[in-house]
Amino acid sequence: MSECKIIDGKAYAQLIHTRIAKNVAELKDKKHIIPGLAVILVGSNPASQVYVSNKATKTREAKMNSFEFILPEDISEDKLLEKIYELNQDSNIHGILVQLPLPKHINENKIINAITPEKDVDGFTTINVGKLAIGQQDAMIPCTPKGCIMLLKSVLHNLEGLNAVVIGRSNIVGKPMAQLLLKENCTVTITHSKSKNIEHIVKNADIVVAAVGIPNFVKGSWLKKGATIIDVGINRVIDNDNKSKLVGDVDFASAKEIAGFITPVPGGVGPMTIACLLENTLIAATNVKN
Ligand code: NAP
Repeated sequence: MSECKIIDGKAYAQLIHTRIAKNVAELKDKKHIIPGLAVILVGSNPASQVYVSNKATKTREAKMNSFEFILPEDISEDKLLEKIYELNQDSNIHGILVQLPLPKHINENKIINAITPEKDVDGFTTINVGKLAIGQQDAMIPCTPKGCIMLLKSVLHNLEGLNAVVIGRSNIVGKPMAQLLLKENCTVTITHSKSKNIEHIVKNADIVVAAVGIPNFVKGSWLKKGATIIDVGINRVIDNDNKSKLVGDVDFASAKEIAGFITPVPGGVGPMTIACLLENTLIAATNVKN
């Protein structure tokens, strides 16, 4: 019986970082452009602060310019929009990312759609979502699903004809993930909190992408033998020794007994998200017309 292989997202992301650093140096040499990523954080959510600081560190490591804007929690929607319009016009900035969630008094949709689509490195604007949906090549692809597809292709190579089940239908993970799998000619099923018999649906899947936000939701007994499992979930839990640790949406211990390939948490999808963010910023900078 063949053993389950762990998909090493950390190592794969490192390969992408190395390639990006080389391409950034070339862009600087040939077109005198240094890719610039602006990250806007509103308020002081500790988890968001960690994400923003990690993004800035990785951006600088790739020799790109990082611009961080930490804005007060009570900033008005108009002031935030003004900031985005200013960054849209700034030729040193090629990518703009607004760290979500935003405070309740701000309309997230309005803010995201104020970002010029060419600088929308998260791929969340309606224009980029629409381009992805109709298969337009120049769509900016959301980072987490983009990373998941890269990991899938790294082990399966050709996804055509495979049955893929996506658990979760959020705008940032589940829906774009399903679109990307469809683009790879998979037969795609999306499940969500109102779906019935998820275990039964998952049993037929060659590929399972779990983006639910519930620790250890998917059990090994649900899986088809040899299936490839991509665990997007990042959940902080307290273990038996009273220590805090991260777990995914898939019960790793039972799933790895059945799966052919599986991503761990941490060290699977997480590192790919940031690598893809830098790749999107590089693409945006490369697309700048002289
Ligand atoms: P989200 O916006 O909360 O969406 C969760 C989705 O799961 C929803 O579509 C929801 O269905 C569905 N769901 C909830 N309970 C369910 C159930 N019992 N059965 C089936 N589906 C159920 O979460 P998200 O932003 O997509 O994130 C999902 C997970 O991925 C979280 O753990 C998050 O931390 C993690 N994440 C990781 C990365 C990364 O870089 N690795 C990036 C983003 C997110 P309804 O639509 O019906 O409510």
